[in-house]
Amino acid sequence: MAEELTEYRGPATMEKITSLAKRRGFVFQSSEIYGGQNGAWDYGPLGIELKNRIAQTWWKEMTQLHDNIVGLDAAILMHPRTWEASGHVENFTDPLVDCKKCKTRFRADQIPEKNLAEKKCPECGGELTNTRKFNLMFKTHIGPAEDSANRIYLRPETAQGIYVNYKNIIQSNRMKIPFGIAQTGKAFRNEIVTKNFIFRTCEFEQMEMQFFVKPGTDEEWFNTWRERRWEYYKKLGVKTDHLRWHRHGPDELAHYAKDAYDIEYLFPMGWRELEGVHNRTNYDLTRHTEFSGKDLQYIDQDNNDRYIPFIIETSAGLTRTLLMLLCDSYDEERVITEKNEGAGSEASPEDWRTVLRFHPGIAPVTVAVLPLMKKDGLADLAGDIRQELKEDFATDYDQAGAIGRRYRRQDEAGTPFCITVDYQSKDDGTVTLRFRDSMEQVRVPRAGLAERIRREIKEYRRIK
Ligand code: ATP
Repeated sequence: MAEELTEYRGPATMEKITSLAKRRGFVFQSSEIYGGQNGAWDYGPLGIELKNRIAQTWWKEMTQLHDNIVGLDAAILMHPRTWEASGHVENFTDPLVDCKKCKTRFRADQIPEKNLAEKKCPECGGELTNTRKFNLMFKTHIGPAEDSANRIYLRPETAQGIYVNYKNIIQSNRMKIPFGIAQTGKAFRNEIVTKNFIFRTCEFEQMEMQFFVKPGTDEEWFNTWRERRWEYYKKLGVKTDHLRWHRHGPDELAHYAKDAYDIEYLFPMGWRELEGVHNRTNYDLTRHTEFSGKDLQYIDQDNNDRYIPFIIETSAGLTRTLLMLLCDSYDEERVITEKNEGAGSEASPEDWRTVLRFHPGIAPVTVAVLPLMKKDGLADLAGDIRQELKEDFATDYDQAGAIGRRYRRQDEAGTPFCITVDYQSKDDGTVTLRFRDSMEQVRVPRAGLAERIRREIKEYRRIK
């Protein structure tokens, strides 16, 4: 059995990640000029590229690579009966306590039991209120009248949009069980405590795939999907000693679940859920049958059978995955160059680099093109090369400052490949290809660069 890390040993801290994210334009605080909005974040130029690429990678993994999984994009606003049927109106609550003295609000299940029993605030020792149930769904009104008849919810999960469409999809796409429906999109939860940067926010994105199976085959499919989701994170190059399974105990199981496992990641603040793989049984479709009055049975014509399918759900947070990848790929290391070799601990700060070791398929910028000098036509040549590569890759161009510093800037943005154009490039049509992880540099012909980069992406193996 693999040994367990009990604390985070890497150099990433939440402060470092938050500050890098802001400095480099991954993530900004929402409405910062007004003092910020709790629980909401904005994704800057590098952040949106990274988020899109994570979503695309997930989409390919969950749809393109399967013959029996199709996609959907359901509306955020759904008929309010949906949430009565799903159990969210009644059960989607967190237990809440307030401190009468310092006014801090806590989730009762997240403070020490002793404090709860003695009604003592863990922060200031003040008196705590009784525990109240607090529903996490955001409510609003549709239409001009603000009364309960017009109440509507912002969806707290994308899954229900899939369930209410499952019959449409069977009919329009002739799907046969077992099959899956994948969806990515926004979800909203009025979270009581939103700390740890983008880990837990009120507005976030999910990537969910709901797999419909015949009752009795559910346990086998549940295991299959657990294995596949684990392999997916390995494929992304995530550190496997920072991943583990957590099985829900009887107290943790959601009202709809027969069995549930979370994939947890060792974030700087400890082990936390990244993705849930749940056996949701036929609960949701049975409830929707009841509440809608529509027959949601699957008709198996080949075997002359009909039943309400069981659902195996894989539910990952997109924004949470982005945070995980920032933490997982973050490294600080001393760079040995000719200049500082032998300088020992007195090496200057510039000899350290911060590097994000994103998988090249996910990195916000895939290739940066850097002319060694602006003059003598090198900038023009580099500009041409960038123009050529644009069709195939997300590119960047940087001609400002010493080449070493430019490499550092790209390392910090997680750019896996840099192409440097120098005087020799003019003479013999070769350029330098520099690899982010190993910092190795090789001379390659300009012709065939795109092909070479594509191959490097495909064959990429994380070395650290
Ligand atoms: P918790 O119990 O921690 O509130 P949960 O178990 O209710 O979370 P799920 O409903 O299983 O979470 O959601 C599936 C996935 O969606 C989670 O694994 C997580 O990645 C993501 N997610 C859930 N809530 C949030 C949130 N508030 N902010 C960001 N991502 C979230």
